[in-house]
Amino acid sequence: MKARIAVLGGDGIGPEVTAEAVRVLQAVASKYGHDFEFSEALIGGAAIDASGSALPPRTIDACRESAATLLGAVGGPKWSDPGARVRPEQGLLELRRTLGLFANVRPVRTMESMLDASPLKPEVITGADILVVRELTGGIYFGRKSRTAHEAEDVCTYTTDEVERVTRVAGRLAMGRRRRIVSVDKANVLETSRLWRAVVERVLRDEFPQVEFEHMLVDAAAMHLIRRPASFDVLLTENMFGDILTDEASMIAGSLGLLPSASLGAGTNGLYEPIHGSAPDIAGRGIANPYGTILSAAMMLKLSLGLETEAAAVETAVEDAVSAGVRTADIALAGKATVSSREAGAAVVERLLSSR
Ligand code: NAD
Repeated sequence: MKARIAVLGGDGIGPEVTAEAVRVLQAVASKYGHDFEFSEALIGGAAIDASGSALPPRTIDACRESAATLLGAVGGPKWSDPGARVRPEQGLLELRRTLGLFANVRPVRTMESMLDASPLKPEVITGADILVVRELTGGIYFGRKSRTAHEAEDVCTYTTDEVERVTRVAGRLAMGRRRRIVSVDKANVLETSRLWRAVVERVLRDEFPQVEFEHMLVDAAAMHLIRRPASFDVLLTENMFGDILTDEASMIAGSLGLLPSASLGAGTNGLYEPIHGSAPDIAGRGIANPYGTILSAAMMLKLSLGLETEAAAVETAVEDAVSAGVRTADIALAGKATVSSREAGAAVVERLLSSR
């Protein structure tokens, strides 16, 4: 297959981790006979420094003309002045809007060799394999806001269209997994949640009859997620609940550096990035964990390019490297030597190329 992939390294450790993911994608291309063309562009603070904009037109074009976009991270102390006219995160928000991406997808899986890294007990998290699908463009974060000296309001709005489209993404993803969806809301209190519940139910019944689903109140979901994480398959939720639950779910895996994510829309184009930020405290030292970005590239292979075998091979190569002890400092085993970002990337490439 021939595909163009936009690569936006961004700020801090972003360019260091995307470089390793690109190396892995090049290895995938050579092993499986694909032709990937990489189109690099600026976003975030690096783009502000170069052009005054967090998302220059050339970057938008590069992403629009590509099958998918791989992103590192944006932001850092240099651009964090709250009074600044342009901020790095605006680039990311604008990019999601421009590409029509409305569903954020975060898999959380426990790797056997990482069970001890989680603050939760190994027997609780063993076998956890959850996919959180979060609505990304509606709800209270984007509703009307106002404030006087004595009162403030943030309005939470959802339309049926917004709920339908994110439910379809969850339904499609559930079909490729264990076909179970838990839809999270607060329907005992919120009107938007009652609409959410009705629409989710209709779309899943009519369009995904093979998918089993249940509704769960967000407070119960927060509890069950750490009490019995292995019982969840796909967890579908609105923007703010998803923001909170995805951070909670990331603790099941135990390490920020290992977790990938995707932002998807109605088509196959998507934005793939690790869940961590630009880690200014370790940027420029070549020690950042690239595995989360490499696993994001694996999600891209599967969800945007339809290359399931290749995606699975990359995931296996990462798991093998981690369990063989090829670990950056953030996931180091006590008393064991750590590797650089470059060495971690090379270990994945080596395993990928030597696998059958
Ligand atoms: P962070 O995720 O950048 O870092 C938190 C801690 O985890 C730090 O100690 C860091 O060194 C460590 N860490 C993170 N990723 C790592 C990796 N791959 N390997 C090894 N260690 C890693 O979060 P933060 O410190 O709250 O934010 C730093 C900057 O990143 C801020 O400007 C923030 O706005 C931005 N940020 C961007 C995104 C994004 O681009 N999507 C997401 C979160 C934060």
